[in-house]
Amino acid sequence: SAERPKSSSTTLRAKDYKSDVKPVWCPGCGHFGVLAALTKAFAYLGLPKNEVVTVSGIGCSSRIPAYIDGYGFHGVHGRALALAAGLKAARQDLTLVVTGGDGDGFSIGGNHFLHACRRNMDMTYIVMDNEVYGMTKGQASPTTQPDWSHSKLTPHGTGVPRFYPAAIALASGASFIARGYAGAPNELVRLLVQALEHPGFALVQVLSPCQTFRPEQKAWKQAVHPIAEPAPADPSEAARLIQSDDGLALGVLYAQRAPVYQPRNQVEAELSEIEAEFLL
Ligand code: SF4
Ligand code: MG
Repeated sequence: SAERPKSSSTTLRAKDYKSDVKPVWCPGCGHFGVLAALTKAFAYLGLPKNEVVTVSGIGCSSRIPAYIDGYGFHGVHGRALALAAGLKAARQDLTLVVTGGDGDGFSIGGNHFLHACRRNMDMTYIVMDNEVYGMTKGQASPTTQPDWSHSKLTPHGTGVPRFYPAAIALASGASFIARGYAGAPNELVRLLVQALEHPGFALVQVLSPCQTFRPEQKAWKQAVHPIAEPAPADPSEAARLIQSDDGLALGVLYAQRAPVYQPRNQVEAELSEIEAEFLL
């Protein structure tokens, strides 16, 4: 785990990473907890504000870049990971945090999600999962249970199985997969610190209740539980853990060192090979 940076008069506190923009989220929305945990993780790691970038798509949770005092990009629906990959290719020195929701990340952005997992660029992807499209007023999302019938669009339920982010991330080659809960802030800070320190693509699925369209998610407080075992570093062990997972287990589900994709280095290496062959 992280070695806490030595404190000095210039040490930033969590609130220093918050912008003056007041969140427009509904009272009690889980995303407040995620924003608080993220700024605490930044402060814990002592990240300079001008070296952190938050990138998002569209949705309630995708508003986070506006609430962080630092660089940010509020992009288009489902394209946060593609934008982030472009930015990381140009500026490998920056700490990149991608934030968004389950609809943005797993439906519209589902294809980008698969390829971000296997590409393993160094970034942290926080998906605030509330199993609903909140901003567009409560439609079923990819992570909604098939029998959830509270939307006028799906009065008899969705009738389709849910998307399991952890299993799909593992199958797609992600090197760090964790699950947190917005109502367990200290644990969430620890997970986010681990994810930010992980070299490569780190997925943190955060159960983040939607107070307005999924009030029953208040029950998560009693239902969540820690993962029973230390994070497996072996994919088949992780597959076994994820297969028996009830979706409410919190902690690191998989963590493994894997080659990090660095496009600029790749291009430079190829160029110098060409130079060596033809010009020298
Ligand atoms: Fe949060 Fe739901 Fe309100 Fe969106 S609609 S701000 S997700 S409580
Ligand atoms: Mg959502």
